[in-house]
Amino acid sequence: MKINKNFDNLVPNYLFAEIAKRVSDYQTANPENDVIRLGIGDVTLPLAPVVIEAMKKGVDDLAKKETFKGYPDYEGYGFVREAVSGYYKSFGVEVSADEVLISDGAKSDCGNIGDIFDKDNIVLVTDPVYPVYVDSNIMSGRNIIYADCNKSNNFKAMPDKNLHCDIIYLCSPNNPTGAAYTADELKEWIDYAIENDAVILYDCAYEAFITDNVPRSIFAVEGARKCAIEFCSLSKTAGFTGTRCGYTVIPKELERDGHNIYKTWYRRQATKFNGVSWPVQCGAAAVFSEEGQKQIKENLGYYQENARIISQALDELGIYYTGGKNSPYIWLECPNGMGSWEFFDLLLTKANVVGTPGAGFGKNGEGFFRLTSFGDRDKTVEAVRRLKEILA
Ligand SMILES: *Cc1c(COP(=O)(O)O)cnc(C)c1O
Repeated sequence: MKINKNFDNLVPNYLFAEIAKRVSDYQTANPENDVIRLGIGDVTLPLAPVVIEAMKKGVDDLAKKETFKGYPDYEGYGFVREAVSGYYKSFGVEVSADEVLISDGAKSDCGNIGDIFDKDNIVLVTDPVYPVYVDSNIMSGRNIIYADCNKSNNFKAMPDKNLHCDIIYLCSPNNPTGAAYTADELKEWIDYAIENDAVILYDCAYEAFITDNVPRSIFAVEGARKCAIEFCSLSKTAGFTGTRCGYTVIPKELERDGHNIYKTWYRRQATKFNGVSWPVQCGAAAVFSEEGQKQIKENLGYYQENARIISQALDELGIYYTGGKNSPYIWLECPNGMGSWEFFDLLLTKANVVGTPGAGFGKNGEGFFRLTSFGDRDKTVEAVRRLKEILA
């Protein structure tokens, strides 16, 4: 037998292991120092009470013969898809419930969608990048081209009309940079995709953090139904990182190479995926209820205020950054021309604050650094105070 040799082409991702090692070495040497972690890419606040109630009721249903549930529909229960459709409507986007597929998260769908595309397609990703887009395509043996995000385009790469590609990954608001595309910018990508007969794979896992007038869905922009698939998740929106539920939207009419994309993806899911559990889908539907929306906004508001506190300090220090608004991430330029890891070590040893070196997200991340707003408020305030102390 032979192993898929494409796995040999994966670049080992030492980022989080290396961070953990440096922090642990530092703490061993300096046990009395209180280290604050602002590198965390996971939520920390609990699920909303209505979600917990709905999940408990879902569990009770499983305890009785009359209400017991077995395998769910591959695309998710109708009432959950209706709830997602209603959610889109609340910000003015028409997506019908039968274009929504409930999943166990956006990472799986973003990573698995490649199953339906030929190996010879050329893939475009932006750099810096969420590693899932790159690694899943390396595993499939596809060629990847990189669109540079940097200070000159405010970390929002735009299409190069002289370059052809077939599959385009866009993440907005972006992880790691926090940058969010405007409708006009997305329109350029849509026009480019249509021109190239390409498909845009649009990851909007952070749409719930948007406060500015930028699109919360690519389907808010004209032409998107002709070229885009959208992946979203309750992970960051409602604290479902451990609970697991997301949704993917595929316009029913979207076709490529004589094939209907929705039907092809449905066939793939029906073969390799058996759905999301009843209690979790009950909890997911509760997120979209009026009370659910009110409750999740409290947690979102907490993170948004943390982001504001960090951004304000950077404004005061005159440090360039993207994000902070429309995103839980703050992507900053390391001061005094420092490299990402150099700044990491400085922050760790002089301020006892941990962040994420931008170099870990691609070549354009070198010299940049990611802080997140998912931490505790008091610790965020204290981290910012220390940051100002060492950089002022
Ligand atoms: C956190 C995150 C997701 C969400 O993934 P889940 O599998 O739904 O938890 C998707 N895309 C990006 C870019 C993320 O950072």
